[in-house]
Amino acid sequence: MINIDDLLAKVKYKPDTVSHLIPNMELCKACKNRVCEKICPAKVYEWDEKEQKLQVTFENCLECGACRVCCPHNAIDWNYPRANKGITYKNS
Ligand code: SF4
Ligand code: SF4
Repeated sequence: MINIDDLLAKVKYKPDTVSHLIPNMELCKACKNRVCEKICPAKVYEWDEKEQKLQVTFENCLECGACRVCCPHNAIDWNYPRANKGITYKNS
């Protein structure tokens, strides 16, 4: 069986300084199920109840696109990180 931790161990990050993932906070506030928190394999999204905002640890993004596809409100302005930033795979 595929183990997500084994896969994550093969990833190298070169984080950008600005987020390539920009959720629409008004839509996120009204969101009932926050599927992004459950679907993201890298745990990028976490709802902050106190701040009433979606925290986005974009530096850990695997660029799989699952959050973009699964968000029921099409709330994420999703882009790839800028050139030469983001992930590479150690074995590729
Ligand atoms: S699923 Fe979409 S609308 Fe809901 S919290 Fe996540 S990004 Fe926001
Ligand atoms: S693209 Fe994939 S890894 Fe990146 S935030 Fe969305 S679900 Fe998580």
